[in-house]
Amino acid sequence: MYIDSHCHLNHPMNGEDVSPDQLITQAKEAGTVGLQTICCRMHQEYELLTGIAEAHDNVWCSVGTHPHDASVEAEKAYSVDDIVKLSQHPKVIGIGESGLDYYYDYADPQDQKKSFRKHIQACQETGLPLIVHARDADRDCMDIIHDEIKNSDKPLYGVLHCFSSGEAMAREALEIGFYISFSGMVTFKKMDWLRDIALQVPGDRVLIETDAPFLAPHPYRGKTNQPAYVEFVALELAKLHNLTREEMGHKTADNFFRLFLKAKDTWVQQK
Ligand SMILES: [Zn+2]
Ligand SMILES: [Zn+2]
Repeated sequence: MYIDSHCHLNHPMNGEDVSPDQLITQAKEAGTVGLQTICCRMHQEYELLTGIAEAHDNVWCSVGTHPHDASVEAEKAYSVDDIVKLSQHPKVIGIGESGLDYYYDYADPQDQKKSFRKHIQACQETGLPLIVHARDADRDCMDIIHDEIKNSDKPLYGVLHCFSSGEAMAREALEIGFYISFSGMVTFKKMDWLRDIALQVPGDRVLIETDAPFLAPHPYRGKTNQPAYVEFVALELAKLHNLTREEMGHKTADNFFRLFLKAKDTWVQQK
């Protein structure tokens, strides 16, 4: 069994003729027994994603604003309280994806920082984990996280999703109890440096994801990704740790439920 901790079932890149329902069915046939579909724009996706999650066992979703969308007026309008309220839905299990992305120039860095702090505060308020997207912004990302931890007496849980940052960020994140999620990137030929980092992440802190429709793992590299392919991420990590693909699936599923604790409330045991 595999859990895809991060995908985008409603993304247009999935293709016009491919519905979220189909992707879920294909995922389940491939042993992906659960998945979290991630929110990027609350004002457009909240109803849609909670609707998909309500309609399917073991499908959950998050709420949040992607760093690329941090300058969108409708997203800026959400307060911490608004995010807290939206997160009360029984199938919303995480907050994000939020963070900083300086690689693309889609949103003002100041807006990204404000939005990131808002999401962190909503996590501290609710106890739900933060789903962090960081690209070319390791230092600023960790500085904001450390700063918000210092400013609150409530704990902060979280995961660095689609990890592609440096070793220092991995180490700092592990020190504060965060999890690290690997995507299809870890299967790419030239990614030895990423596999080296993956080897250093303790087995009880690693998650797997597809980030579908992006970054399809080997042997599907270049194709449209889907949650059914998460087993190939598990396979790569299993090879690194001398485990079977199934053992890695179980381990990462256990980790998923330890971090996204709320998913347990609606988990439906597979026959
Ligand atoms: Zn992301
Ligand atoms: Zn994503």
